[in-house]
Amino acid sequence: MPHTLTLVWDRLLACATLTLVWDRLLACATLTLAHRGEPIEYPEAPRVDCMSPPRSAIVIVNPVAGSGYAREIVACFRRRLDLSGVETELAVSSGPDELVRLASRPPTPETVVVVAGGDGTVRHALTALRGRPNPLLILPVGTENLLATQLGLLPDAEALWNTFAFGRVAPLDLATVNGRLFATNVGVGFDAEVVRRVARRRRGHITHFDYFWPLWRTFWQYRFPRVRVVADGGEICDEPALVFVGNIPRYAIGLRILREARWDDGLLDLCIMRCSHQAPLLEHAFWALLNWHVEHRAVIYRKVRRVELQSAQHVLLQSDGDPAGELPAVVEVLPAAMRVLVPPSTPASDARSAG
Ligand SMILES: [Mg+2]
Repeated sequence: MPHTLTLVWDRLLACATLTLVWDRLLACATLTLAHRGEPIEYPEAPRVDCMSPPRSAIVIVNPVAGSGYAREIVACFRRRLDLSGVETELAVSSGPDELVRLASRPPTPETVVVVAGGDGTVRHALTALRGRPNPLLILPVGTENLLATQLGLLPDAEALWNTFAFGRVAPLDLATVNGRLFATNVGVGFDAEVVRRVARRRRGHITHFDYFWPLWRTFWQYRFPRVRVVADGGEICDEPALVFVGNIPRYAIGLRILREARWDDGLLDLCIMRCSHQAPLLEHAFWALLNWHVEHRAVIYRKVRRVELQSAQHVLLQSDGDPAGELPAVVEVLPAAMRVLVPPSTPASDARSAG
């Protein structure tokens, strides 16, 4: 009799497990199909201005960002400018303050400001160009180049020249976190801790490998503090969670955490992954790799204009891949805050699918 009861119990347990797995798969498939069948409605895409070939440029180089290959791209691009008779000034920045100063003094409103570097370098250029008519062209020679890739810019000198000469000027939304500008995303908690550890060890140019040990140690040591999130005036979360706010889908290593984000829709995308220990973190990572994380029932995904973030504990922030202080924080969108050059083949508002 006890043997029979054990058998029945095992069968019931197996049935319950299979039902649970089937339910999760069905829920994911249903939500994904529903989402794909009813695309999110966006505001009308902003107008993209056509531009005659620029006559002058200031090329700002960050000697820390990029490898030897990156320096070769910059050299080829400069040669192309010289051969085409473009009036070019080369400026080497010794640090963030110097980069802001250099980018703030283009000789004419039409001068293209060309900045070579990764997302961290570009962030400093945004500070200088916010509200100015001068378009920015990014030479993507950093480690991640999230913004440049999203705009359709590739680390290829000839393609970059084509964008310079025949590209289009498009408005780009920016955002601030506690008054600090950013263009890609802000991360709260786990990824900010990884960024802090990488920044502490950084000695010049970094590669993806430099993230391995900081990521490994953070995974085992992180304590998942409670975070309160208020979006456009309404509280939507007050529990342990990873929070991402930003303007482009691309995140590190090809993940698309803010999957629906657009760089010119005048809105920020907010993704909250409710998560209190390592196991659900792995589950979120798994669904994010499949790009199905938004459908997970422990994820909140919204389009917002303003986000307030608070915690009773010590919670770090990162913006555009650099340390950005800690909570409390206010994140706000700045619609069409500056202008960027995008490739001629990249239509407005659809550049998000590039790369
Ligand atoms: Mg947006």
